Amino acid sequence: MKQTYRLFIRLEHPQRIRVGRLGTFDFAAGLYVYTGSARGGIGSRVLRHMGLSARPRRVRWHIDYLLTAPGCRVERVDLHEGIECAINRAGGGSSPVPGFGASDCTAGCGSHLRFLGP
Ligand SMILES: [Zn+2]
Repeated sequence: MKQTYRLFIRLEHPQRIRVGRLGTFDFAAGLYVYTGSARGGIGSRVLRHMGLSARPRRVRWHIDYLLTAPGCRVERVDLHEGIECAINRAGGGSSPVPGFGASDCTAGCGSHLRFLGP
């Protein structure tokens, strides 16, 4: 069963971050929300994102590039039963990085990272 999670991410100061092959983007300071999903093992995925996993951190997903930036931290994690894309689009905010976390999105979200404001 696929489960959806939302990471509420605080970026302390504005910075330029390379997001893998997507390119390099200027991120404003403030609160972001990232909506993702994992099939089974959602606990380990979330722990990995929060940097609490015992495994070494490897940059793999778009979100990893943001989370490994200095001054970036996960403030809160919500788990949801609903469909990832529906939850993402209901979340409001703006999409500062087109394509972020949306490589396998078939619902046309544009981005699974939303900027909620300073
Ligand atoms: Zn989507």
